[in-house]
Amino acid sequence: MKNRKVRNLIILIFLLTIAVIAAAYFVIHKIADSHLEEAREAAEEAAQKQAEEEADEQARLDKIAEEKNQWYLILVNNYNAMPDDFDIETVEVEDGYYIDARVNDALKEMLADCREAGYSPRLISTFRTRETQQYLYDHTANKADTAVPGHSEHECGLAADIVDADSLGWGDPLIDEQEDMPAQKWLMEHCQDYGFILRYPKDKEDITEIIYEPWHYRYVGKEHAAIIMSNGLCLEEYLRDMQDYYKAQ
Ligand SMILES: [Zn+2]
Repeated sequence: MKNRKVRNLIILIFLLTIAVIAAAYFVIHKIADSHLEEAREAAEEAAQKQAEEEADEQARLDKIAEEKNQWYLILVNNYNAMPDDFDIETVEVEDGYYIDARVNDALKEMLADCREAGYSPRLISTFRTRETQQYLYDHTANKADTAVPGHSEHECGLAADIVDADSLGWGDPLIDEQEDMPAQKWLMEHCQDYGFILRYPKDKEDITEIIYEPWHYRYVGKEHAAIIMSNGLCLEEYLRDMQDYYKAQ
């Protein structure tokens, strides 16, 4: 009788021990599984995030390549001639001065707002035909300061030389002092709001190979003009390092 009780007790303890071990095994596995699941999810999330970031970056690079091909970002300088098939439709802005039809509204608005602010901007050169550029080049005293025909932004119809009307009596208004004129100050401060940049800034002569011209405005579109002007760049620098500056999607 006593033996049987002891035996039953041993069996009970044995069974309980098995049950506890089984339960512990079950719980430990559950915990391990859930940790494994969490780790797997985290890895999946990280991989997805990385794929998204890579796709975003690729989209940005594609967009930059696409933008660089747009007419408003064309680079024309001593090393880059206008394409021979460059097609342009010009319209008169005012006073017999013509500009690319796609730029006309922006230029008109900039001049109107400058006048509205109380200043007197005056166009003195906009679109030039190849023949006009050739004439200027042939007749200039300083060939280094005049673009070779085929290499002037004025031939593209995307540039405008604007001076303060009060400087017209100077004889030659295209001198550094133009930067101190009230209309010019306004234009240099606001041109990017209309999609224009001051194309040949001070201290960029080494890159542009054109003297400082506080009168030559070039249309590049509002988005690019804002970046170029706020970073103090010339167009050559911007196009070279556009991936560092252009963040838009
Ligand atoms: Zn010019």
